Parts: sequence; C-alpha cells; structure tokens
Amino acid sequence: MSRALRTPVRPEMAEVPAYVTSTKDAPVRLDRNESPEEMPARLREQVLARLASSKWSRYPDPYASELKEALAKREGLPAEHVIVGDGSNSLFLSFFLASGAPGRRIALCPPTFGLYASWARAAGAAVESFPLDEEDLSPSVERMLSEARRDPDLLFVLCSPNNPTGTLFPRDGLTRLLETGAFVLMDEAYIEFSEGDGRPGGASVKDLLRRFPNLLISRTLSKAAALAGVRVGYMLGDPTLLREVEKVVPPFSVNLFARAAALAALSDAKVTAARISTILSERDRMARALSANPGGRISESHANFLYLRPERPAEALLEALWKRGVLVRKVAGTKAPALRVTVGRPEENDLFLTAWREVIA
Ligand code: PMP
Repeated sequence: MSRALRTPVRPEMAEVPAYVTSTKDAPVRLDRNESPEEMPARLREQVLARLASSKWSRYPDPYASELKEALAKREGLPAEHVIVGDGSNSLFLSFFLASGAPGRRIALCPPTFGLYASWARAAGAAVESFPLDEEDLSPSVERMLSEARRDPDLLFVLCSPNNPTGTLFPRDGLTRLLETGAFVLMDEAYIEFSEGDGRPGGASVKDLLRRFPNLLISRTLSKAAALAGVRVGYMLGDPTLLREVEKVVPPFSVNLFARAAALAALSDAKVTAARISTILSERDRMARALSANPGGRISESHANFLYLRPERPAEALLEALWKRGVLVRKVAGTKAPALRVTVGRPEENDLFLTAWREVIA
C-alpha cells in the first residue's frame, strides 16, 4: 500500500483550502452579500405555525415535492427540471462529486466564488483558469471557445452576476460556448438583482435551458429571498442530468424548517420584489456617491454588492473601515487591490459612505 493512503485523506486534500470567512464582527456588516432585511413578521408567524403542526419525529417527504413544485412554478418549468439542496453550496458539492474525476478539467473565470475551485479539486478534477480582464473585467470568451473545441470534456462553471465583480457573463459568448457542446453550470445566485428587458432578474439565461441540455443553472434563496440562515438552493436543467446529480444529494437534506421558510417566502412574490427594488435603488445611490469621490474605482454592478478598486492597499482600508464600525470584504487573488461591499439598509450604506470618505481623505 502506498504511504499516502495510510491516512484516510486523499493527497489532493492538501491543495484544498478551508472556507475562510471573517472572524471580525461589526455593527454594520457589508461583507457577506446577505439581505439587510428580514422576512416580514407575518410570514415568519406562518412558518412557525407550520412547524408547530409538523411531525418532527418523522423524516420529511424524501422528494421534497411541495418545495420543488413551488420553485418550478416560480421558474415556469416542470417540477422534474428542479432539484433542491441545503443551500446552493451543497448542490455544487454534489455536482462536483458527480462530475469530478482524474482527467476532468473544470474551467473557471477568476476572480470568482472561491468554493468552486476548492471543491472541484476535492472531487478529483483539475482547475483550468480563464481570468477576467483586469481592466474591464470581461471574460476571455475566444480562448474559452478554443479550449472547449480542443477538449470536449472541459466543464465550465460560470457565475453571472459574478461574485465578486458584479459583472454579467455575455449572453452571446455563453450561447457560442453551449453550441460547441461544452457543458456549463451557470451560478445565478445574484440574478434577481440584474436587469434585462427592464425587469429584475431579466439577465437570467434560464430561457436557454430549452435549447441546451448541456446547461445547468444554480439558484439560491440566500440572497434576494433573504433566507441565508435557512439554507435552500436549487438547480434547474435537464431532468436526466439532474437525476444523476441528485443521487449524491443527501436525502432529506432540506429540513422541515427550511422547507417551511422557503414555501412562505415563495408564497409572497411582492415582498421579495419590494426588497429587490430598495436594494437596486440603494446600489445606484451608493455607486453614484462612490464615483463622486476619489480614492477608488467603481464598476457597474448587476448584483447586491459593489466591486471597488481602491488606489490604496485593500487590507489597510478594510481595517480602517472596520475601526469605524463597518465590515467589508477584501477580494483575494487579484493583482490590484479590490474590495467588495454589500448593499445594506439605507442607514448602513450612509455609515459606510461616511466612513469611506474619512478613510480615503
Ligand atoms: N454562489 C455564489 C456566487 C455566492 O456568492 C454564494 C454565497 N456567498 C453562494 C453561491 C452560496 O449560496 P448558498 O447560501 O445558497 O449556499
């Protein structure tokens, strides 16, 4: 037996970083892209009443049919085009487990959500990077296309709007990629904050699912639906493919509370729409205020956060903001300094803007 296997851990795990989130706390937390508003009390009461009449001693419906039906209705798709998990993070892990293997390459466009690379590696795949342009943050579509043609098994994990840049992946680039037959998992965690055809969520590529069975879309209730603590994510796509991924989603992983909270949130689309609209107007107000100030460059965001490229080192600015009670996120892995600032409640955003003016003065 080889030495490496004397431990239960595969050698690849040495290359997998642990998930890091700030250990700092602050009165104003704008570092995790959460919703600044809670679900209204009336809906919370509904959730608690449902829980009070549920059987906690029994496993819930193994197929989570009611939740899948509600999500399918929201997305205008048949229920077999939906799978659910305890957060979209957990479905990424299932997806990588189902697709990762020695010899498989997963294509990413960094800077992007950190878990993709870690978990793709943990599942035994290799990561191929197609970095975004440092200046205009656009992806290198032509290079991606030529690599997709060269290696038909290359699997793309894209994020649009992208965390941390807030940029959209160009729709024509995606269509061309899908036309090569390449497989794409598109993470639309922040899609409700994008605008296309003049409506929130309008930049979604959900309509392409009809044309391309090689496209899967990941969604979450953690952002626009304000349920980060509840843990519900879902994937949309071809039923045959989803059934394979679902084989490695732990049964009953969406628990009774999560199901009840998700159903309550989905029952009232107006509440979510109003929350999104406040966040969008605050995002635009913050962007205007920041562009009027020197000290950092702001790029157009299609998400509930702003990507700020300061002139000074990001770490020092983060510390100075934190001392003033505002926590933001430093973006890792970029050549130039970058910060990601979540859009909070109006008064929180004012505190951030005041603190920002002070620290760059
Ligand atoms: N995708 C992206 C791009 C994210 O930024 C996040 C959370 N930060 C997630 C997915 C995770 O979502 P969930 O809470 O559904 O696991």
